[in-house]
Amino acid sequence: MKIICIGRNYAEHIEELGNEKPESPVIFMKPDSAIVRNNEPFYYPDFTKDVHHEVELLIKIREVGKSIAPKFAHKYYNEIGLGIDFTARDIQAIAKKKGLPWELAKGFNGSAPISKFISKEGYDVKNINFRLLKNGEEVQKANTSLMLFPVDEIISYVSKFITLKKGDIIFTGTPKGVGPVIIGDRLEGFIEEKKMFDFMVK
Ligand code: MG
Repeated sequence: MKIICIGRNYAEHIEELGNEKPESPVIFMKPDSAIVRNNEPFYYPDFTKDVHHEVELLIKIREVGKSIAPKFAHKYYNEIGLGIDFTARDIQAIAKKKGLPWELAKGFNGSAPISKFISKEGYDVKNINFRLLKNGEEVQKANTSLMLFPVDEIISYVSKFITLKKGDIIFTGTPKGVGPVIIGDRLEGFIEEKKMFDFMVK
C-alpha cells in the first residue's frame, strides 16, 4: 500500500506557513514504514528539533482505479479515519529553501500515526468536523468544507498520475493550528464527537 498526502489544502493553514495558494493539489507521499497504529507512542526522532503535528482526515481506497472522474470518486472509498502528518519542520524548511523534495521531513519512521477506519455511512465527507487536542487543550479544529480541493477532486486528480489501489491511504491536508510537539505530550483526535486516537509522544 501507499500513503498519498495533500499539502496546502486549507487556506488559513497556507497563510500561517506563508505559502502560496496552489492551482492544483500539492501531492507528496510517505512510505508504509511511517505508519503507527493502535495508539502506540510516537518516538521523537533524534535528527530534528522541531516536529509539528498536522491532524488530517484520512480516506482509505477500496478498489483499484485510475483516471477516476470526480463524480465517480465516491465509489472508490467507503472508510474514513484520522491521522497525524508529523512533519520535521526544520528539515522541511531547508528542503523548501533549496527547492528539494520533502520526503525526509515528512516520511520518516513514525511520521504517520493513523486511527482505525470507520464507515463513511452517516457522514458527509464535505462536511465533517474534526479536531486535535494536545494535553487536553484544543490546538486544531476544522470542517472538511474548508478544503480547497475536496476529497473527490483529490482522488480524481491523483488517479490521473498514480493508480490507486485497495488499501491505499490519503491524508487530505491539515487545517490551521499546526505546532510543535515535545516528549511527554498526549495527542487525542476526534471526528465529530468520536475519539479516533489517543497516544503519547515519547
Ligand atoms: Mg499535512
